[in-house]
Amino acid sequence: MVEIPPVVAGLRAAFDSGITRPLAWRREQLRALRRMLVECAPEFDLALNEDLGKPPAEARLAETGFLVGEIDHTLRHLKRWLAPRRAGVPLILQPASARVMLEPLGVVLVIAPWNYPLQLALAPLIGALAAGNAAVIKPSELALSTSVLLAKVLPQYLDTRAVAVIEGAVEETTALLEQRFDHIFYTGNGRVGRVVMAAAAKNLTPVTLELGGKSPVWIDDSVDIEAAARRIAWAKFMNCGQTCVAPDYVLATSAVAEKLSPALAHAIVELYGADPWSSHDYGRIINARHFQRLATLLDEGRVVAGGQTDATQRYVAPTVLDYVAPDAFVMRDEIFGPILPIVRVAGLDAAIAHIRKGDKPLALYAFTNDADARERIEQETSSGAICFNTAIVHLGAPDLPFGGVGESGMGAYHGRSSVEIFSHLKPVLSKPLWPDTLRMIMPPYGKSAERVIRWMMGR
Ligand code: NAD
Repeated sequence: MVEIPPVVAGLRAAFDSGITRPLAWRREQLRALRRMLVECAPEFDLALNEDLGKPPAEARLAETGFLVGEIDHTLRHLKRWLAPRRAGVPLILQPASARVMLEPLGVVLVIAPWNYPLQLALAPLIGALAAGNAAVIKPSELALSTSVLLAKVLPQYLDTRAVAVIEGAVEETTALLEQRFDHIFYTGNGRVGRVVMAAAAKNLTPVTLELGGKSPVWIDDSVDIEAAARRIAWAKFMNCGQTCVAPDYVLATSAVAEKLSPALAHAIVELYGADPWSSHDYGRIINARHFQRLATLLDEGRVVAGGQTDATQRYVAPTVLDYVAPDAFVMRDEIFGPILPIVRVAGLDAAIAHIRKGDKPLALYAFTNDADARERIEQETSSGAICFNTAIVHLGAPDLPFGGVGESGMGAYHGRSSVEIFSHLKPVLSKPLWPDTLRMIMPPYGKSAERVIRWMMGR
């Protein structure tokens, strides 16, 4: 195992020397990262295909291309985002000026998962570098080819004094978590999220936890069911359902489910052909353990599409299960695979009640054109985000903070939020010594303090 303390000490020395602070350095790092993504895109396509059977188009759309877009957006706006923001000063403190400046935190740790192994390692890094920090990246050991490639190429492009990649599994992550960082950004499951937060607590290190959960879909008969089914199927079966914001299950009335089931089956054929096993656009399950876990969920309802598996390939067909009981096993934990249960409910009241009963999801999708239904869903449920008439694409809008709430996580990033999450928002107040207006509110408290207090209380 790599000796971790000297690596972190080296990064801290680099941060303390001030090299990461100038805007020019930050921009240069982002440009270098962009070059790496463009020049190494074919190699990343291959690695992602080895790890997840990821189709090259999805590797570009959701990993390299996504990251290039995030970098371009950051480069375009960084100067403005970093500019100190003027703040108002109440009369009682005047004359004075106040502003909020963004201060880099120091050395940050990014722990990434396997499902979008490149995007989820580097999107936080973009924010960390843009905010002027040094960083350690810990890619997921389960997406091994991507981890190896990242560890090879990242140091060829970035300033190795300030960025390090530490590969490995639990042992390495545990050793990393024994170090003191200034922020820990973890993406993955809630069980490990708790381990990360407990380790961070020892040093009072702030954390961002990007977790998962069961993201529900509500659909009613005010929308075009065929078009909605295509969007639901695309969002669910991309990356073989191994997407943190994938629709986990559908809630619909029986009348809507009657139309939705065949529409989803039809959409699957449209997207992946009659035999998704042989489609170049359909991925595979990350490993045997997850394959086995998913295989046990296939008889939890009436199979209306898919249901086939191939253990040698870790293939699970895009599957739709109808008539799934709300308390079925498949409805307990996040599915994180290509199985879409439909739970038939009496109506929107029952759907909202079902959602409220569970943990707060990372995303909630509602396919409805009914303004009242939209309003009720917004007001009566809590989730990391809501999309109407679409799914998963909100994370492609960099001005929308992306993150969870409750069990689906804490803190949000992308775009400006990424820069702020890796910064301390430091207030700076400056006041002339003369005129000495503060004297009025200093002891011995007398008439002038009384007048000020009366004025403060509005009397
Ligand atoms: P994973 O198994 O790759 O784990 C994530 C990271 O935690 C890895 O780097 C791993 O080495 C480390 N780790 C694992 N066990 C550890 C331990 N005991 N101690 C310390 N570190 C440990 O990924 P995963 O958790 O299986 O990822 C899937 C989950 O992540 C799903 O729940 C999904 O919804 C969630 N997720 C969330 C987002 C988001 O942006 N909110 C994105 C992707 C995935």
